[in-house]
Amino acid sequence: MAQIIDGKAIAAGLYAEMAAKVEEYGNTYGRRPGLYVIIVGEDPASQVYVRNKEIAAKKVGMVSEVIRMPESTTQQELLDVIAKLNADNTVDGILVQLPVPKHIDKDAVIAAVDPHKDVDGFFGMKGGFTVKKGYVAPCTPRACIHLIKTTGTEIEGKHALVVGRGELVGKPVATLLLNENATVTIAHSRTRNLKEIALTADIIIAAVGRAHLITGDMVKPGAVVIDVGINRGEDGKLCGDVDFAAAADRAGYITPVPGGVGPMTIAMLIQNTLDCYLARVNK
Ligand code: NAP
Repeated sequence: MAQIIDGKAIAAGLYAEMAAKVEEYGNTYGRRPGLYVIIVGEDPASQVYVRNKEIAAKKVGMVSEVIRMPESTTQQELLDVIAKLNADNTVDGILVQLPVPKHIDKDAVIAAVDPHKDVDGFFGMKGGFTVKKGYVAPCTPRACIHLIKTTGTEIEGKHALVVGRGELVGKPVATLLLNENATVTIAHSRTRNLKEIALTADIIIAAVGRAHLITGDMVKPGAVVIDVGINRGEDGKLCGDVDFAAAADRAGYITPVPGGVGPMTIAMLIQNTLDCYLARVNK
């Protein structure tokens, strides 16, 4: 039976460490890190996400504000707010909650954020299989790597299978695994023989968005299984991409859904803000 990787508990430990650092750095540098989240429109799920991000930032003693803009906001109005935050020296992290309303060009908005304040890590991942030096990696992929490391598993030299090649999770997490010297396979909807490939993987990261795509018989005994997917099962309950009960019978370590990658993603956003702050105050 696998050991459960408790993302909630690991995140709680990280928050305690980061709170101590925020206090220490605040005294050293005369100000605390600042995270600013912009939300345009009334999407209820997005409202919950931004609220959770603000709570997490405040929990560690950061300065944090959610800037709420109406659905009717023009692209230029949004770009003006971003420009203001870019110019404000007390702002270390800027996050525009996605999706933005259809009349706003998402890519233009992402490109407008100062790369040194881009806590979502979009800029850091631009340009292929590398994380740009001096910039942060995206939160969910970073969370996956952190969770693997907490198991004491050495990533170097291992065969890591990433299922899903999405821009937000699959591709960037494959890059981070490569940077950790894993041998990486990326599977997607056209992949043949997923089971055969999965059975040779020491690490499986599932980032697809399909309940129970990864069945127990696809898991190599002792493998580390990180489940990024968020789905609603037939019973209406939240579940991941992995058939948890069956996979847990064979895996060495496994993340649950909920309570695995999700809580760690927000913790990594706070870590990214701290990293951006440190890079700026140490300039
Ligand atoms: P995405 O961009 O839509 O990517 C999904 C990927 O899955 C695509 O590359 C697709 O392949 C692949 N795929 C679809 N069916 C497949 C199959 N049968 N076998 C193998 N691969 C298959 O999605 P995403 O944004 O990366 O998100 C993936 C999941 O992670 C979603 O459930 C999302 O809610 C969740 N998520 C969770 C967090 C968190 O904090 N826990 C954060 C972000 C996302 P093709 O490219 O060939 O179409």
